[in-house]
Amino acid sequence: MITGEQKPVEEIRQMIAPYKRILVLGCGSCVAECSAGGEKETAMLASALRMAARMNNEDVTIEEMTLDRQCVMQFVIQLDKVIDPYDAVLSLGCGAGVQAVAEMYPEVPIIPGLNTEFLGETKAQGEWAETCLGCGDCMLYHFGGICPLARCSKQILNGPCGGSVDGRCEVNPDIPCAWQLIIDRLDKFGGLDRLEDIYPPKDWSKKQGGGPRKIIREDQQK
Ligand code: SF4
Ligand code: SF4
Repeated sequence: MITGEQKPVEEIRQMIAPYKRILVLGCGSCVAECSAGGEKETAMLASALRMAARMNNEDVTIEEMTLDRQCVMQFVIQLDKVIDPYDAVLSLGCGAGVQAVAEMYPEVPIIPGLNTEFLGETKAQGEWAETCLGCGDCMLYHFGGICPLARCSKQILNGPCGGSVDGRCEVNPDIPCAWQLIIDRLDKFGGLDRLEDIYPPKDWSKKQGGGPRKIIREDQQK
């Protein structure tokens, strides 16, 4: 999933300051899973903004709604029925959601309420960790299911840096050394021989070398 964190309320207040009728728009997918922009967080932020406005004698209307997904046109189009009275939307979607809404309603300012962070997983209640950079050429087979791009602090592709202590990364002992994990895992499944080949320099052209990426599936377009 894509993770995000809410921007500080004061930063949000500065961005919405020019507007009088604001729709706070949540998203029920990834950002709900990471407790940043789901229905609950949207209601809480809208309420905090209303309270701050009232305390400052500001004449603004702040309302909220949550779409199931802000990055899918079929869901964004539901705003057709409600968007007219608002002069700005404060989106709690990820960066893709903000841009999808902005593309569909070019005449309305769409303001980001989150800082979009990374592709990752929920590790425990209140804990999310980065596990993938979306490189476009997955190497997880070679590295036993542990991504050295996302999880090794130095993004080393050919063996550990030598600085780990007790299996922890020398850059930050709070995180496990990705290379320790890679070796342990390959060893477990008899795959250590995969590391005998020198892994070539990463071909970043499959990430952003050709500009914004697109996936087109004709079989899905019929
Ligand atoms: S190798 Fe690339 S696609 Fe695979 S997990 Fe790592 S960054 Fe993601
Ligand atoms: S200690 Fe491990 S995870 Fe940290 S930079 Fe070195 S090889 Fe990468």
